[in-house]
Amino acid sequence: MVKRFNIVTNHYSEISIPKDWKISTHELDANTKINCVHCGQPIKFGDSYPSMRYSTFNDEPYRECSVCYNNYLPLAKFKKSEQQF
Ligand SMILES: [Zn+2]
Repeated sequence: MVKRFNIVTNHYSEISIPKDWKISTHELDANTKINCVHCGQPIKFGDSYPSMRYSTFNDEPYRECSVCYNNYLPLAKFKKSEQQF
C-alpha cells in the first residue's frame, strides 16, 4: 500500500504502482537495488532519499531517486514556509 501526499489539496490518497517495481522503506544492505517510488528508475538503496510525499500507511517514507527528491524539495519547502503564516 502506498500513500501519497497531495501538496495542493493537503490530502493523502492511496495509489498503486506497477507490480514489477521494488519499492522500499528499509534495506539492510545499501547495495540492494530498488525502484524510485515516483519514476521507477532503478537505484541502489544507498543512493536513494526518503520521500516527502510517498509513505506506507504507518508513515514510513518510501525512497526516491535524487532527481525526483530534488525536484520536489522546493515545493515541500515552499509549503512548509506557507504553513507558518
Ligand atoms: Zn525518481
